[in-house]
Amino acid sequence: MDAACESIVTRMTGQRAATLRDPAELAAQGLVAESALPVLEQVAARYAVAVTPHVAALIDPADPADPIARQYIPDARELEQAQGEHPDPIGDHAHAPVAGIVHRYPDRVLFKLVHVCAVYCRFCFRREMVGPGKETALSPDAYAAALDYIRSRPEIWEVILTGGDPLMLSPRRLAEIMADLAAIEHVRIIRIHTRVPVADPDRISAEMVAALKVAGATTWLALHANHPRELTGAARAACGRVVDAGIPMVSQSVLLRGVNDDAVTLEALMRAFVECRIKPYYLHHGDLAPGTTHLRTTLAQGQALVRGLRGRVSGLCQPDYVLDIPGGFGKVPAGPAYLSQADYSSSGAREPHPESRYRVVDYCGDVHLYPPEP
Ligand code: SF4
Repeated sequence: MDAACESIVTRMTGQRAATLRDPAELAAQGLVAESALPVLEQVAARYAVAVTPHVAALIDPADPADPIARQYIPDARELEQAQGEHPDPIGDHAHAPVAGIVHRYPDRVLFKLVHVCAVYCRFCFRREMVGPGKETALSPDAYAAALDYIRSRPEIWEVILTGGDPLMLSPRRLAEIMADLAAIEHVRIIRIHTRVPVADPDRISAEMVAALKVAGATTWLALHANHPRELTGAARAACGRVVDAGIPMVSQSVLLRGVNDDAVTLEALMRAFVECRIKPYYLHHGDLAPGTTHLRTTLAQGQALVRGLRGRVSGLCQPDYVLDIPGGFGKVPAGPAYLSQADYSSSGAREPHPESRYRVVDYCGDVHLYPPEP
């Protein structure tokens, strides 16, 4: 870690000494084998490593398939880059008019304020852009230019603070940024994406919660978590402080092989979110980030899982399963199709008849016609 980055992380987290940041520190805690150090040093030289004490305590070192370790502990397979994997898998750069801004859809922008995180996730789709050695945060000039960009475009209704992790900023700095954004009349929604409530829950202090609220705009907080064990008592309490302050929360998860790609875990994760007053929002299909093949499922597996989820939990617990199209073409729903207008397909007609019936597949896979037979 370069000195400037180390200093900002120390200042922002106050826990530099305890966060595990390299393979030797992980080995000292029994989280990786000493024999793996040479290859893991290569991984760490390419992709940042950080495991907070809170996350380290969740890992069972005796379990080689531990789903928490799989998300945070470096793996030799990260050095393998498969065909199709790309350093910018969802095409942020194709839609970056000024530094720090990604403007992919007309009414909203991503605003990337910092490039550091409390933890570094092994599946991260921005793994080439975050971590030590990258630019730590936007310079004052770049920040001003990004604000000018938002200010000059009245169609921007929602600003999404993402990262890096915006909650790595101090409450004081975050409050200043929230005030700057809320002062722009057409910015009505400020959405903040973070992993901090599950990675370092104590960081969600009263000061941090106060910084999230701002007059003139509505704040939403999107929590990123992938396994129900991440929703510890402390993490639930941190989320409770946010929701009690009147800030609505949604969830984002990534479907990850060996972490949450089974019906029982996925169901428990979605139930845990709802118990915490967090509405499940997105379940992402794994992006084509370099060195992440071992963590991705197939789309067919994802569709089967969300079809099963539909039958196991209420609508409150249903996330949208989505795919980010490589190249920057945006997000699309990737879940199974339940409806098709199929009556015409065997008749040779090129278009469905407006009154043709629908073929509806229920969550058990049984097919029905709508409207039903008279
Ligand atoms: S917290 Fe988000 S940006 Fe940071 S490493 Fe994890 S997925 Fe990437």
